[in-house]
Amino acid sequence: MTTLNNVKDLAIQLMNKTFKVNAKGWTYDLSALDLGYYFEFSNKKRAFGTCNYVKKEISLSKPLCSVNLDKIDTQITDTILHEIAHAFCVHIYGTIDGRGHDWRWKSIAKQIGCNGERCYKIEDVNHTKSKYTYICKSCGRETPRHKKPTRTQACGICCQKHNFGRFSHDYVLELRVNY
Ligand SMILES: [Zn+2]
Ligand SMILES: [Zn+2]
Repeated sequence: MTTLNNVKDLAIQLMNKTFKVNAKGWTYDLSALDLGYYFEFSNKKRAFGTCNYVKKEISLSKPLCSVNLDKIDTQITDTILHEIAHAFCVHIYGTIDGRGHDWRWKSIAKQIGCNGERCYKIEDVNHTKSKYTYICKSCGRETPRHKKPTRTQACGICCQKHNFGRFSHDYVLELRVNY
């Protein structure tokens, strides 16, 4: 049976492994442990894995690992490699260009055996902003929207609370364009 200890062992094993990474016309021999990274479980419930370049910490969510122990060879391995790729990318390209999931990260991720996809990483949802955000000036609630809404909308919560659930111009949502 797979346990959290197996997950930790796997993480440290992969962090200790030296990978060959081609970037900027060079071949780098890199291991996350050599770069000073250490492993830690986190209690985050929304991010499967994180890579903190400042603390040099790669972490996996204890709650999410616990319910995905059957996926140690797939999802968990891929998540560890995903985070190691972030560590390498920041090492090679610096903290400004090396951040995020662009072609630089993708190339490194694929070279070290990660699928280079951003699937099931809820952290990526946080990185990726929606195109629009609805904001209620009254209660402060923000709702992400990927498509431009076609008509005016009011805050459901505020209308419910202050206007018997009926539409009110007092609670019309403001639309912010994020990019
Ligand atoms: Zn990531
Ligand atoms: Zn509101």
